[in-house]
Order: sequence, then structure tokens, then C-alpha cells
Amino acid sequence: MTNDIHGKRILSVLAHPDDEAFGMGGTLALYAMRGAEVYLACATLGEAGDIPPDFLQNHLSSGALRESELDCSANALALKKVFKLGFRDSGMEGSPDNQHPDALVARPMEEVVERIADVMRQVRPQVVLTFDPVGGYYHPDHIRVHQATVLAFKRVRQELSASDPQALARLYYHTMPKSSAKFAVFWMRLQGKDPRKVGRNGDIDLFQIASVSFPVHVKVNYRPVVKQREQAAACHASQGGGQKPSGLSAWLMRLFSRPIDRFMQGFPEPKPHQRIKNDLFWGIDDELT
Ligand SMILES: [Zn+2]
Repeated sequence: MTNDIHGKRILSVLAHPDDEAFGMGGTLALYAMRGAEVYLACATLGEAGDIPPDFLQNHLSSGALRESELDCSANALALKKVFKLGFRDSGMEGSPDNQHPDALVARPMEEVVERIADVMRQVRPQVVLTFDPVGGYYHPDHIRVHQATVLAFKRVRQELSASDPQALARLYYHTMPKSSAKFAVFWMRLQGKDPRKVGRNGDIDLFQIASVSFPVHVKVNYRPVVKQREQAAACHASQGGGQKPSGLSAWLMRLFSRPIDRFMQGFPEPKPHQRIKNDLFWGIDDELT
């Protein structure tokens, strides 16, 4: 791990309130705890997510409820600031939400890229994090955010290269190991459930997820902030956060879930046989000297 965290900034670009907690929340909380400034750009307010009616009693809309859950989670992870990019949540492939004129997948790519680029210009992070090329589980918003973030990163890196050589030094994609997806398939079967129809809306296909795997270049162990990550997840109560599995499920979860986030390196191009690092900022300070 880098010793000098002073002045270090991370920007995580994600799609929905809860992606920051359920996905790479441990990593975000760990670097915030160590003194880095950790920022989040969230593209939508998760308007298309299914919400049990009793959760909506005190909120004007599902977007307002999920925004308050996002603020709660950002607080638990000790994020410096959340940039809400103002697009509308799209559903999974074929969902009517995708036809909404403000839906993230319906907006021109250039508009999405520029909105993300603007945040990058303000934050000037050394490290940018986003989804992997399949968005973890093929959610169209996740894939869109990945593609737009890659384009925005290239654009802003070029703009800032003369004035701020450390800006946008690393780009990483959060990725799930194939073994986890395979384990999840096994776990679903054990519970008598169909691994091709997973999730609150039955639109996640674990077989499809288990069929791709990406190389891992950085593994971050977030054991010191497991509690903070759990607190952030519990903020997203309308999305099932905070529910504790019990019995055999809990035992299996404990057995297979280690507090490790895995990242594939998008920039710079990884060298063949590059050793796996344990720090997102690896080598950045050396590059200046
Ligand atoms: Zn999401």
C-alpha cells in the first residue's frame, strides 16, 4: 500500500444508488479511512428499481427515497462528495424504462461522456474506478457507464497531461471472480432456485455471468472497514440491504466471502505477466521522480 496518501483522490463512476455499497464499497471506505479523498459520480437515482410499497410512505418518489439511501451510504463510507449526474435509471434489456427520454441508455453517448468528464475535471483524481466491460451482470446502465467512463478518462487525461501529470494516472474496472459466480450458481441450486433468473426482478443470469472472466491486476483487502461497508449496504433497505442470511446460507456466505475487491487495470495497459498489486495507487509516485 502506498505510504503517502496525502492529496490522493479516487473517483468512482457508477450507475445507481447501491452500486457504491454492494459493489466496491469496501475499497471506497478503506481509502477514505486512510485519508484519501474519495468521490462518487452516480449517473441515475435508481428510479426503475423495484421498491416495496411500505418503503415509499415518507417519500415523494422512488428516486427521492433512493437518493436519501445513497446519501446515507455515502456518509457510512466517508465519501467526500457525491456527484449526481441526473440521468434516469434504465431497466434490464427490453424493459419499458429504457424508452424514457431521460433514460441513461436513451441519451446520446457524448452527453454521458461530457457529464462524467466534467466531474473528472473538477476532482482531478489520480485513480478512476468503474464497472467492468459487462457491467458486472450485464445491466445496460452499468455497461453504458463503463463505456462513457473509458472515453471521458482518455479525453480528460489528454487535457490535463501538461498541467497535472498525476491526474488520471490509473483506470480500473471492478470485477467479480468467475469462481464467485460459479459458487453463486451452486448456491442457488442448493436453495432450489433457478440460477438463470436471479435478483429482485428475476433478470440476472448467473450462467451468463459465470461464462466471462477478466484478469485481475489489483486486489484490495478491506477487512479493516467491513463494518462500514455493511452499514452502507444497510442504508439501501429498499433494495434488500441489511438483510442477514441465516442457517446454511449464512454459513456458506461466511465460508466463501472474503473482504477482497478485485480490479482489472484499464489504464495504463497492463504488462504481460504483471504481478498482482494490493494498492490502487501503486507506482504513481515513482512515475514522477
Ligand atoms: Zn447498478
